[in-house]
Amino acid sequence: QRKAALAASTGPGATADGHKVPLLANIGGPADVEAAVEAGAEGVGLFRTEFLFLDDSKQAPSEEKQVAAYRQVLEAFPEGRVVVRVLDAGADKPLDFLTPADEPNPALGVRGLRTLLDHPDVLRTQLTALAKAAEGLPVYLEVMAPMVADRTDARAFADACREAGLRAKFGAMVEIPSAALRARSILQEVEFLSLGTNDLAQYTFAADRQVGAVSRLQDPWQPALLDLVELSAEAAKAEGKSCGVCGEAAADPLLACVLTGLGVTSLSMGAASIPYVRATLAKYTLAQCERAAAAARATDSAEDARSAAQAVLSGE
Ligand code: PEP
Ligand code: MG
Repeated sequence: QRKAALAASTGPGATADGHKVPLLANIGGPADVEAAVEAGAEGVGLFRTEFLFLDDSKQAPSEEKQVAAYRQVLEAFPEGRVVVRVLDAGADKPLDFLTPADEPNPALGVRGLRTLLDHPDVLRTQLTALAKAAEGLPVYLEVMAPMVADRTDARAFADACREAGLRAKFGAMVEIPSAALRARSILQEVEFLSLGTNDLAQYTFAADRQVGAVSRLQDPWQPALLDLVELSAEAAKAEGKSCGVCGEAAADPLLACVLTGLGVTSLSMGAASIPYVRATLAKYTLAQCERAAAAARATDSAEDARSAAQAVLSGE
C-alpha cells in the first residue's frame, strides 16, 4: 500500500486542496543531480557549494572550474529553480586556507558569510562564476548566503552580488535566531529567506550539532524552533516574499506538513525523501496542516509536538 502511494506520488508538491509547496532537492554538486531529477524535484533548494573547495587545501578553485560545475547543475533544471548557497566554510566545514585555526568556539566564530566578508576575493570569484554559468540559460537562479545574522550582513551580501553583476534573486539563510527575530529587517535587503533548521536548532538551543550528547536539543520538533520558523514565515508573508526550509526538518513527512502549516513556501531535502514528503503532503489540506502546526506549537516538548501534530492529522 505504501509502495502504491509512493508510485502515485508524482508531479508538483501540493496539499490535498491544491496549495502548492514546491519540493526541491538538497545537492552537493553535479553528481547528485540525477537522483534529484529522478525523484521529481522541482528544482534545487540548496546547492551546497563546499564540495568544490575540498580538492585543494591551499586555495579556492579557479573561476573556470566553478563555472563548469555550476553550469552542469543549472543545465539539469531548465526552467526550474536553482538556489545556490555561497561557500559555507568554518565550524563543521573548516577549510585550511580560510578558517582561523585558533578559535575557542568555531561555531561562534568566523564561519559562513563571515568568512566570505573577510575574504572578499573568494566571494567575488564565486559570484562571478555563478553569473557566467547562468548566462544564456532560462534557469531561475537564486543565490543565498549562509549564517546571516542581521541586516548589515544581508546588505553586504546583496552589495557583493550586485557588484559581481549577478542577475539573480539574492537571499539570506535563517540559521541564527537573531535573523528569525528580525526577519523583516533582513528582507529589506534580500528577496527571499531559507531556513537552515540544522544550524537554527544548534544556535537556538546552544547545542552543538556535532555533539551526540546534546542531540535531544537538536530535534527540529522543538516548539521553540517551530516558533522561529513561524516568525520567519510570517515576516516573509508580510513582505510579499518567500521563505523556504532547506534543513533536515523538511525531510520528515509529518514535520513537512507542520512547516507548511506554519507558512513555509517551499521544502528542500535530500532527493530520497521527496516522494515520501510529496505523498504525505497530498493527504492533508492546508487548513489541517495549520491546525497541526498550532497544536504542535501549543506543546512544551519535541515529543509532545510530534504527537499533537500526528493526532490532528489522523483525525483523533
Ligand atoms: C542548515 O544549517 O540547516 C543547513 C541547511 O545548512 P548546513 O546543514 O549545510 O549547515
Ligand atoms: Mg547551516
